[in-house]
Amino acid sequence: MRSFCFTVDVDRDANIPVPGMSQAGSYNRGLGTAPRFRSSGEGIGALTEILDEMGVKATYFAEARTLSNIGAHHLVGREVGIHGFDHEDFTGTFPPGGKKEVLNRACEAVEDLTGKRPRCSRMPYMKISEDVPPILAEIGIRYDSSTYRDMEKEILPYGLAGVVEFPVPVANDASGKKIVGYLWPMHEGKRPPGDYIEMASRMENGTFILATHSWHMSERIDGGYVSKQDAKANENNVREAIAGILDLGYEAETLPDAAERFGVR
Ligand SMILES: [Zn+2]
Repeated sequence: MRSFCFTVDVDRDANIPVPGMSQAGSYNRGLGTAPRFRSSGEGIGALTEILDEMGVKATYFAEARTLSNIGAHHLVGREVGIHGFDHEDFTGTFPPGGKKEVLNRACEAVEDLTGKRPRCSRMPYMKISEDVPPILAEIGIRYDSSTYRDMEKEILPYGLAGVVEFPVPVANDASGKKIVGYLWPMHEGKRPPGDYIEMASRMENGTFILATHSWHMSERIDGGYVSKQDAKANENNVREAIAGILDLGYEAETLPDAAERFGVR
């Protein structure tokens, strides 16, 4: 069984860690690192339109602060998980009980905005420590995707201290260069969609997790806000990558649906 789980990190624009703060900022484009949300708000509209048009059910990991800034209208009725409250690094130092407090507050905020208690999560920066999965389980999160794993013929979701973990694949491409299941380099103009299709073609059984960021539809780290023309090209690349993966016989589904199909709990 080939299961395709498209995932979207709904982050503040071009997020970066800010020294001395647990809250992330945005890449400095001359006005400082205060968080920005414009590209993320535009990008989530573009992405959900593409995914709907292609009939692809995705899983969204929304940062609570970003969602309250951009609004949840594009995400109501979809599988919306958490991604921290302020894009915190959960391998960092928190006061006792602090991680649980922040993660639970993020769940409450997302529930307020979407009308549904989140059951999925991805940790910001893909940084997860051993103490986090049991906390996630305590606050009602059942599915997580915060780890990486080398590409193999079979990549199955697995139980991890109370949650079902869905690793993001890492491989070497035909030229021996590292490729990760994140569309980041494609949005930056450094990889074609075919590289991701080729990676997906190597897996025969399990869940192929592909990830992107909402803001990356409208903004590049290298070059800033994209032109209308570049935004269209970017959208077409996303369509091409997804269509190519579906053509391999993959079935697109959310993390909970995939866990159910593979019988993992
Ligand atoms: Zn993030």
